[in-house]
Amino acid sequence: MKTLQQDLIARDYNVNWHPYTQMKTARDIIPIVRAQGSYIYDANDKRYIDAVSSWWVTLHGHAHPYITKKLSDQLLNLEQVIFAGFTHQPAIELSERLLELLPENQTKSFYSDNGSTAIEVALKMAIQANFNKAGKKKKIIAFKNGYHGDTFGAMSVSGRGIWTDPFGDMLFEVLFIDTPKLDNIEELKLFIDTHAKETICFIYEPLVQGAGGMLMHQPEPLSELMKYCKEREILLIQDEIFVGFGRTGRMFAANHLSESPDIMCFSKGLTGGTLPLGMTTCTEQIYNAFYSEDKTKALFHGHSFTASPLACTAALASLDLLLEKKTQESIKRIQDKHHSFIEQLSKHPKVLDARQCGTIFAMEWKTLQSTSYFSDMHDLLYPFFLERGVLMRPLGNIIYLVPPYCISDQDLDYIYSCILEALELI
Ligand SMILES: *Cc1c(COP(=O)(O)O)cnc(C)c1O
Repeated sequence: MKTLQQDLIARDYNVNWHPYTQMKTARDIIPIVRAQGSYIYDANDKRYIDAVSSWWVTLHGHAHPYITKKLSDQLLNLEQVIFAGFTHQPAIELSERLLELLPENQTKSFYSDNGSTAIEVALKMAIQANFNKAGKKKKIIAFKNGYHGDTFGAMSVSGRGIWTDPFGDMLFEVLFIDTPKLDNIEELKLFIDTHAKETICFIYEPLVQGAGGMLMHQPEPLSELMKYCKEREILLIQDEIFVGFGRTGRMFAANHLSESPDIMCFSKGLTGGTLPLGMTTCTEQIYNAFYSEDKTKALFHGHSFTASPLACTAALASLDLLLEKKTQESIKRIQDKHHSFIEQLSKHPKVLDARQCGTIFAMEWKTLQSTSYFSDMHDLLYPFFLERGVLMRPLGNIIYLVPPYCISDQDLDYIYSCILEALELI
């Protein structure tokens, strides 16, 4: 007799194609049957601590009763309605409440349904704003090693590599720059200056480049770079899809920066990780570049599920929880615990680098190979942690933690002890 676990694995393999997965060599995909708080449970009732918030989306833990209640009420009342020509309370209230928390210059919000689409909308806003004003600009600047999503526009502005190679010729041209540090900022400014007149926008992940390997840079040089771009009328697109909603220790990465972007992108934690939703906010100036008697100046974009009432409701509930004192204290608590762990790691001979930004922790393993996503370290580390009931997804030899804010001190200590054990054994 097959167990439920074996049965689900076999049936899944027959019909499902998984993301970022070489299906031929992938180890068994794990069927998850339920989740609660920081834990997910497989069909054998084995428990895993979700140390990566299920691909960086879960904020308050799985199946949160408060979000669930609000969602089920909404589901009985209004589950879906077209957002062109119509509107609804959850979308109005969410825009009002979120814009209130963002830098003051953000006044309008455009909904979509995931992170990549929030980026597409941002790029189309910037590019069409230039077009609507009969501008001749064509260039876009982005960071090396950036990640903004998997659709074609988002791929184009992301760092190029093995992932983008098959599509390389079809991606639009982008000028890639290093992230700013005190010692390269003048060089970056010089580069930007030579392209300033033709550049529409600069798109960046502020403070932490997530998929690029949890690479971190400081707020001061980034603010300086933002200011320099603004003075040259280069629009700033700030991708807060990963870092937003408390991950950096503050509500948004924007709260660490002295300059405000023109356009901002949100998804992932926006709904507390409950449902997919994308949001692109912008300034009144951007909005006004489309605001006209002329129908051809409208923003040509929309998705079937634009501003899903359910997703907006989940986002409102998540926001309630996020603003609670208890959650804010938890964010601080996780930040402090990472900090002490990093001190403990800093002298370890196998640790190349250990770093954090708020609740985001990352550690690079010293290996003979150069650091890469395809490093064999992943294949050693991923099952090592799974066996111990911890879900982590090393990026090559970089392991990281992006826990939900409800994670207990005990579970964090257990994860740290597993990391120390791995450092001994691997
Ligand atoms: C995940 C991510 C995206 C893409 O979001 P999806 O919902 O996966 O399409 C874009 N930007 C950043 C910084 C991300 O981490």
